[in-house]
Amino acid sequence: MALGESELHDLIRESVRDISDDFDREYWREHIENKEFPDEYWQALADDGWLGVTIPEEYGGEGLGMLEMSIIIEELSRGGGQGGIIFVLTPVFGGIGIQRHGDEAQKAEYLPKIASGEMKFCMGLTEPTAGTNTLNIDTTARRDGEEFLVNGQKTFISGVENADTMLLVARTSEFDESNPTHGVTLFLVDDPAERAGIGLSEVDTAVPWFERQYQVTFDDLEVTEEDILGTEDGGLYLLWDTLNTERLAGAASSLGGGLRAIDLAVEYANDRNVFGQPIGGHQGIQHPLAESYAKLMASREILYKGATKWDDDEDCGLEANVAKLLTSRAGTEAADHAIQTHGGNGFTHEYEVYDIWQNLRLTQTVPVSNEMVLNYIGEHELGLPKSY
Ligand SMILES: Cc1cc2nc3c(=O)[nH]c(=O)nc-3n(C[C@H](O)[C@H](O)[C@H](O)COP(=O)(O)OP(=O)(O)OC[C@H]3O[C@@H](n4cnc5c(N)ncnc54)[C@H](O)[C@@H]3O)c2cc1C
Repeated sequence: MALGESELHDLIRESVRDISDDFDREYWREHIENKEFPDEYWQALADDGWLGVTIPEEYGGEGLGMLEMSIIIEELSRGGGQGGIIFVLTPVFGGIGIQRHGDEAQKAEYLPKIASGEMKFCMGLTEPTAGTNTLNIDTTARRDGEEFLVNGQKTFISGVENADTMLLVARTSEFDESNPTHGVTLFLVDDPAERAGIGLSEVDTAVPWFERQYQVTFDDLEVTEEDILGTEDGGLYLLWDTLNTERLAGAASSLGGGLRAIDLAVEYANDRNVFGQPIGGHQGIQHPLAESYAKLMASREILYKGATKWDDDEDCGLEANVAKLLTSRAGTEAADHAIQTHGGNGFTHEYEVYDIWQNLRLTQTVPVSNEMVLNYIGEHELGLPKSY
């Protein structure tokens, strides 16, 4: 008998929790300190089918949707792992990008390898000058017959050292004010860390991740027509199509991180005794945790609604943006309360809550800032004038 949706989701949560339980705090600390990719964790996710959760079965995936991916990411983050980063770069940008916009040869080449864990992606969008203004990117891919020569610079690009392929965003036609979203193309650039024409220098970021960030310089990098994902000059449509899934996946990660902070705070508050009673009995400790929990529960509803709409091919722009905004704020606030609950221990590496706060604080800016999310809501939902 086929499983009902809620039974399937319970099963997914259980299976994912088992994976999280196999990778303890020590494992993550070691990988973060040494900036080492968590290969064993990655393979465990692949072996249970979770890296290919949205990939169609004919390409080796599970053929499920964004709702299931959101549940997986939430549970992984709640279990203390860094499932959020892992999913956004590879199953979302790589997997969903190619599954929706790749040609048949690209799907056959990349999707089975994403599902099996053989392949990792990085995403080359942000530039030092353009910043949030993607229309203003300076990295160009100039056509030369069937080839293109790429020149320019990206910054803050995560995980290039581990990536088999970079999804590179480059301008292929001059900016045209009358058609501003035309002229940008996405390229699949294999072996980005070793390829001629690509230079890397590390950016010294302060986030507790296992991956590094890089300034990436392109100096006559050669790519071909076959490397184009989607259509030449039509890359922005593709990028925006994938952005809702990136926001949903990011929201799931913030939600799980916030819930983990609360789980840890509750455990600590029940255990820690000063003035003759557990500190969790003081309302000054209990209410902030209860309030953050309430906010996370509410934001979870909008996240699941957005993911369900995406799976049903409905526009989920509002839900994806609201979920991203609310989870990043409620998650950061939950982690802040968890630090306060832990007293001095909140600032040690032994207790995890300060790391969680740093990761959650980042989600207010990365991969898209909350101001840009508010711009979207103000302009597209409320019908206010474009503010920039
Ligand atoms: C740890 C880390 C990992 C990252 N990984 C990647 C990656 O793998 N790939 C990648 O491409 N990028 C990556 N980034 C870059 C990240 O996505 C950007 O830093 C982020 O999108 C913000 O862009 P910016 O830094 O250029 O900020 P800016 O564009 O300079 O903006 C600065 C501030 O001004 C605000 N602002 C700007 N314009 C407006 C406006 N119109 N209205 C209101 N407010 C505005 C912004 O919201 C922000 O708060 C990473 C960054 C970090 C820190």
